[in-house]
Amino acid sequence: MRSAVPLAELTTLRVGGRATIAECAGTDALVAAVRALDAAGVPVLLFAGGSNLLVSDDEVPGVVVRIMAEGVELGADSVTADAGANWDAVVAKTVRAGFGGLECLSGIPGSAGATPVQNVGAYGVEVADLLRRVRLLDRATGETHWVEPGELGFGYRTSRLKHRSGAVVLAVEFALDPTGASAPLRYRELAQRLGAAEGESRPAAAVRETVLGLRAGKGMVLDPADHDTWSAGSFFTNPVVAHDRVDRVRAAIRAQLGEVQVPEFPAAHGVKFSAGWLIERAGFAKGFPGPDAAARLSTKHTLALTNRGAAAAADIVALARTVRDGVADRFGITLTPEPVTVGVEI
Ligand SMILES: Cc1cc2nc3c(=O)[nH]c(=O)nc-3n(C[C@H](O)[C@H](O)[C@H](O)COP(=O)(O)OP(=O)(O)OC[C@H]3O[C@@H](n4cnc5c(N)ncnc54)[C@H](O)[C@@H]3O)c2cc1C
Repeated sequence: MRSAVPLAELTTLRVGGRATIAECAGTDALVAAVRALDAAGVPVLLFAGGSNLLVSDDEVPGVVVRIMAEGVELGADSVTADAGANWDAVVAKTVRAGFGGLECLSGIPGSAGATPVQNVGAYGVEVADLLRRVRLLDRATGETHWVEPGELGFGYRTSRLKHRSGAVVLAVEFALDPTGASAPLRYRELAQRLGAAEGESRPAAAVRETVLGLRAGKGMVLDPADHDTWSAGSFFTNPVVAHDRVDRVRAAIRAQLGEVQVPEFPAAHGVKFSAGWLIERAGFAKGFPGPDAAARLSTKHTLALTNRGAAAAADIVALARTVRDGVADRFGITLTPEPVTVGVEI
């Protein structure tokens, strides 16, 4: 165990107080560490890439268990990865080996094991679309077992694993397409760049390169030299408004902005609005509140809250509240943060 480690050195937002860390380089060590801490009643924070966490500036109670096992194995039509494997390295390996399926999820920071936690998604593909099974450590019983995706309650940027720590993901297995064709292209901007109609496929390698280019242009690929990427990615999820409230929301938007084209997308239980569009229309431009602020919106993407170098968690929280409250005041929609918060509330 290492004590007094500043989590700010390990999170992509580069904020977070000091913590005692147990680094677990293998799956057996991870299982043993979590079982022992649970038996001793010590609070545990599961931590992998730190790219979807907003941790308070105070000392973190208990022990931070750092998940670092990183084996990756290709099968005839699948890939299996230990929880701590770098996600983009897993995607790159599958694409290099001639498999299709995961390419739209290129360039997403963090670990393979965290991808089911919030049903990671990008460019029209979600982890739940391709996941075959997940190996879990059940912390209530101390037992490990494989579960099917149907047991994980996947939804838009959520699952039964998010905001709960009752289970540790030890490994993930994904189905792949051995022909090397990409998943059907459902995201218009991506399909257009590749000269494809929506729903068509392209070679996975070409899709990966295009996704990486699109993401880099939005500051969504980690780059230590670029403060626009010192973030947790999109800070708010796109709000899904229930069918019986949609007309009220549309009316509130028109009352503020007049007859505008409002981006809307069909969702499971309502209509999905674009959080980035709402933030901009509520008056928060890229780079808000300005160049001197320690925490500001990315200059490339209104949905990312970024640390310009000297921000503390409190600065990120204050900016998040300002943006959330501004959107709520203007349009009556309360945005929900996407990252998991530890010791802070937005
Ligand atoms: C620049 C940038 C771009 C991003 N783009 C996207 C995107 O396009 N789409 C998207 O969905 N997300 C995106 N994200 C968010 C983030 O990368 C993902 O959510 C990623 O899966 C988090 O992985 P991690 O290993 O960093 O998790 P961490 O931040 O370490 O942990 C996140 C949560 O998962 C839990 N957790 C981690 N590992 C395990 C495990 N093995 N078992 C159980 N619980 C675990 C933690 O306790 C915590 O609650 C982006 C982030 C950044 C910084």
